Amino acid sequence: MSLLRVTNLTKKFGKFTALDGVNMEVNKGEVFGFIGPNGAGKSTTIRVLLGILKATEGEVKIFGKDAWKSAVDIHKRIAYVPGDVNLWPNLTGGEVIDLFVKLRGGNNKNRREELIRKFDLDPSKKCRTYSKGNRQKVALVAAFSSDADLYILDEPTSGLDPLMEQVFQECVMDAKNEGKSVLLSSHILSEVEKLCDRVGIIRQGKIIETGTLSELRHLTRTNLLVETKQPMTSLSELKGVHDIEEKEQGLSFQVDTEEMDNVMKHISQYGIVKLESAPPKLEDLFMRHYDGTDTTANRGVGGVS
Ligand code: ADP
Ligand code: MG
Repeated sequence: MSLLRVTNLTKKFGKFTALDGVNMEVNKGEVFGFIGPNGAGKSTTIRVLLGILKATEGEVKIFGKDAWKSAVDIHKRIAYVPGDVNLWPNLTGGEVIDLFVKLRGGNNKNRREELIRKFDLDPSKKCRTYSKGNRQKVALVAAFSSDADLYILDEPTSGLDPLMEQVFQECVMDAKNEGKSVLLSSHILSEVEKLCDRVGIIRQGKIIETGTLSELRHLTRTNLLVETKQPMTSLSELKGVHDIEEKEQGLSFQVDTEEMDNVMKHISQYGIVKLESAPPKLEDLFMRHYDGTDTTANRGVGGVS
């Protein structure tokens, strides 16, 4: 069941088209990763979802309701964390958390205390004294203490240290295990890779890929380290082989996953002594998209596809 559906969303700021026909769907119980470089249109999309910005064209529905017209109703059931949290300077962190949780009609004191402890937050300080990371923690504690159906998180971990990143990931998994839905925008791929059931990749206002991680991985490369009895020749001429490097332990290179079979047949002729493979990373897929075109032309060594 889809909780959130964006159909053909276009958003223009004057003559500038920030979003150009975006389609996106988040299902119940799903963690959806919304990834793309800075300026791609993630926050703009999210602001339209929240009813802060009005779509120029297209349809945006959350819980089956129009995001712009029914914003008040929708907000009762969503929790939102932005990447740059601004808080009331004169309230303490604890007061702000209570305020947010009350607004959403939640009332789970235990969860609040547990999260404050886990995030190692001092809730008695005035917000004006908090660092960026601490303001981020306040917003995260408030969001995950709320009993929302949909969590909309816009690069929520910018400013958190790695330990807290771990706590954040546990919170997302807890929400998922309770059957909640999460829209997580990020440019940290390892985060998305760990948490998300499906991802959508946005670039210059357009969704360029959507799918499960395994669906997207077929577009990626596997890293291999191979040692052979006879020296491997003509590897660089093989289709789908990239970034060949001579290492002490053998040759290291990347292989387009769809060319793996051919490449393995080729290298086995030389007598494989040792073979190590590292699973494809979302980063690799992302790099191909970041380069501009979907080719490998400017990746350097062996960048021919
Ligand atoms: P992201 O969150 O993916 O980094 P944004 O959605 O913030 O990207 O921005 C997408 C593009 O829209 C950027 O080029 C940005 O400069 C532009 N943009 C965002 N908000 C406005 C605005 N209020 N007025 C004009 N341009 C904007
Ligand atoms: Mg943004």
